[in-house]
Amino acid sequence: TTRVFSGVQPTGNLHLGNYLGAIVNFVKLQADHECLYCVVDLHAITVPVAVWGGPDELRRATREVTAAFIASGIDPRQHIIFNQSQVAGHAELAWVLNCVARLGWLNRMTQFKEKAGKDRENASVGLYDYPVLMASDILVYRATHVPVGEDQKQHLELSRDIAQKFNNDFSESIAANGHGDMFFPLPEPVITGPATRVMSLRDGTKKMSKSDPSDYSRINLTDNADTIAQKIRKAKTDPEPLPSEEKGLENRPEADNLVGIYAALSGKPKSALLAEFGGAQFSSFKSSLVDLAVAKLSPIAHEMKRLTDDPAHVDRILIEGAERASAIASQTMDAVKDIVGFIRKR
Ligand code: ATP
Ligand code: MG
Repeated sequence: TTRVFSGVQPTGNLHLGNYLGAIVNFVKLQADHECLYCVVDLHAITVPVAVWGGPDELRRATREVTAAFIASGIDPRQHIIFNQSQVAGHAELAWVLNCVARLGWLNRMTQFKEKAGKDRENASVGLYDYPVLMASDILVYRATHVPVGEDQKQHLELSRDIAQKFNNDFSESIAANGHGDMFFPLPEPVITGPATRVMSLRDGTKKMSKSDPSDYSRINLTDNADTIAQKIRKAKTDPEPLPSEEKGLENRPEADNLVGIYAALSGKPKSALLAEFGGAQFSSFKSSLVDLAVAKLSPIAHEMKRLTDDPAHVDRILIEGAERASAIASQTMDAVKDIVGFIRKR
């Protein structure tokens, strides 16, 4: 049997990369899997308070991401939508897995290096430990499949290493407790779709990111039609017209990114688009992209607005989801406690 888990941080500026790289796949997977989609508020606070914005902003962004899940088509009755901090098992399992993961493994994580920047001594311990909490998010549900963008590949590999080391370190106890030779399944990354890595509109070599200080680097899911149009028109390009074949996009990161976004939003392969737009100037391609992006994104923005106008309703969805998630997580935690040797009430 399969179980899908994935998370999105409530740190404002939910963008087209999150949508095309992650949320679109969340929606697809719900047809034939049991899915848990989590607003990872514990992860959000790993950066300085001034960056995540404080308690009111955290609540606002948590509701906004929840609304984005639902507005994009995830059904909260069929599947589980919740915020991470309401299910104690995430943080609880993270402690045990902290004692399984090795310093050397964490030292290789490129996201920490990027996010900590030059002032590494001043990064939070939580930012360093982020990948272990992420492993716990997945493993506390013994999830088998994790849809993520390309940037999370390394963290998924670490999750597998942690799961495997737990299975090895405690193999006798795992068997003695009736779980056979493997307690945690090794979670598989699901990195698919036409846009696993959407790049910044200002710099085709950097990923589109919530935390980029320039709002012109990304299209936010809450942007209105005028803003979307302005951002696409101002998006960086080179002076050449569009090529008529895919290999003409090599070494043209900005051009490649815009064509990739168009392909992902339209569902057409890049080759078909280039057959259509090859030889055209970017200005005409961009106006067509504006129309497409507005047509695809404005119904989502509209539905998000409708949902976030009733915060109590959104909160009820999260509370109800958290209750269902807790029921699964506490079974895993009971088993983990028995495997490790922690005495507990039965
Ligand atoms: P931050 O820069 O603060 O980490 P983020 O934009 O990476 O924010 P996350 O909440 O960390 O957003 O990621 C949520 C999901 O979106 C993850 O599965 C991640 O891989 C995916 N994702 C993020 N950015 C992109 C992108 N540019 N292209 C495709 N997928 C992306
Ligand atoms: Mg990220």
